[in-house]
Formats: sequence, C-alpha cells, structure tokens
Amino acid sequence: MTVEWNEASESVITITDQMVAKYHPEIRNLRIGLLFRNEAQLSKGSLVLAQVSKVSAKDQALIDFDVLIWVAQDYWNGKLNDHQRQALIDHELCHIRRKSDGEIELINHDIQEFTTILNRWGLWNRDLVAFAGSITPGVWQGELFSIENVKEALGKIEGVSKVTLSHLNAEGEENNLVLVDKEAEHAG
Ligand SMILES: [Zn+2]
Repeated sequence: MTVEWNEASESVITITDQMVAKYHPEIRNLRIGLLFRNEAQLSKGSLVLAQVSKVSAKDQALIDFDVLIWVAQDYWNGKLNDHQRQALIDHELCHIRRKSDGEIELINHDIQEFTTILNRWGLWNRDLVAFAGSITPGVWQGELFSIENVKEALGKIEGVSKVTLSHLNAEGEENNLVLVDKEAEHAG
C-alpha cells in the first residue's frame, strides 16, 4: 500500500492537548503539527505507531510548526483504545525536551533493550531495575499484550520479590495482580 499523509483527526488533537496540559506544561507553547500516516510503519523489525520529528529552521520558513508528530491512522482508529491512545501521544511528547536556552531537542528513550535480553538476563542494569520498579503503581491495560506475557517476563526478574500490577479489565474494573517470585512461593 502507498503511504498517504493527512491531517490528523480531532481526537488526536484533543488527546495531544490534554497530554501537553497534564504532563508536558513546559512545551505548551510549542507549535505541534499532527498528521495521520495511513498505516503503521514497519521499521527494522518493529512496528512504529507514531513518530516525532523536529522542523528545521529552514523548513520553518514554510511550515508553521516546531515539531511534527505522525500517528498511524489504522491503529489509531481501529486497534487502540483510549488508554493506549493517550499513552502513545504522551510517549511521543516525552521525546521532546526544551533545553535551558529554549531550543528544542529530541531525546531517546530511558531504556533501550531487547525482549530476548530481558528474558535471558532479567534486570541486568540499573536503568532496567528503575524501569521495572516504575511499572508497579502503573495501570496495566492488557489489550495489545497478554497479561500472561507480562507475568512471564516479570516472573523472571531477579531481586524483585513481589510485583503488583493494577490491571483494568475489559469492563474497566480494577484487578490487582500480585506476582511473587518463585523462591518466595516455595518458601511460603
Ligand atoms: Zn519513542
């Protein structure tokens, strides 16, 4: 299929406004252009659902935006629920940082890791430990990813004796899932 670009829908604009106001007040004056890419992009073996890019000073002579964010229309309209849409936009906004001199820069993820390495070696560095630790108070919405996968991955984490996941089921009710590591299970 040919890649097609369009203006993003009202729901993308609304959620972006909400996420900026709630979590990214430091970039509230930024001019963010929102686009739909008709389908998600397959890149280097993974599916890209959205991407942020900076508009260069040269291009700003023609384009009235500081940054552009494109969102995969097929996922946005057909596969993501509202929780996931918010997470996706919040994620893209996290890539944008205003430096002390006011300049905008795009930053990388806190962690970059292969699932295979996580499976094989667990939380082998400090960044991963911090990352896993921050999952605990979060809300888990298991639509794209099965809860079994998460259980399995978290079950292999060493040094974490108990993980609590707050999981919203399809009806929006909260289920608390407590994972205890195997040693503790045997001991108890
Ligand atoms: Zn990202």
